[in-house]
Amino acid sequence: MRHHSGRTLANVRDHHAACSCGQLSLVAQGEPVRVSMCHCLACQRRTGSAFGVQARYLRDRVRIDGDSTAYTRISDEGDARTFHFCPHCGATVFYHLPGEEDVVAIPVGAFAEPGFPAPTRSVHEVRRHGWVAVPAAIEHYD
Ligand SMILES: [Zn+2]
Ligand SMILES: [Zn+2]
Repeated sequence: MRHHSGRTLANVRDHHAACSCGQLSLVAQGEPVRVSMCHCLACQRRTGSAFGVQARYLRDRVRIDGDSTAYTRISDEGDARTFHFCPHCGATVFYHLPGEEDVVAIPVGAFAEPGFPAPTRSVHEVRRHGWVAVPAAIEHYD
């Protein structure tokens, strides 16, 4: 009979993300370094939602498969973000942050996994829609 502790399982668990059509996908090994929700207007436009949620992984923990098209956009505070999306269905599956070349950011929705770790920080809250509630235990940033 095999036995695994929860911690060991969590440490080695893979998370699978994909675009809408499945052409572009990735496997992220283990748990993310950080999960954030962002209320900035640029994230609202990119996601088509009222806020974005993204997980950061170290690049060497992420295996990407498929073709992507890149688009670089400037955030509310002037930072560039290079989004990689599926050229067929248009869904963003990962993106890069300049100056943090060892990191890959992955929109949490691309995992389609309701049990995915919750965000621990909420940023650009000055842009938050009034009806959006953030988790009680979270760091807040304007
Ligand atoms: Zn696709
Ligand atoms: Zn944002």
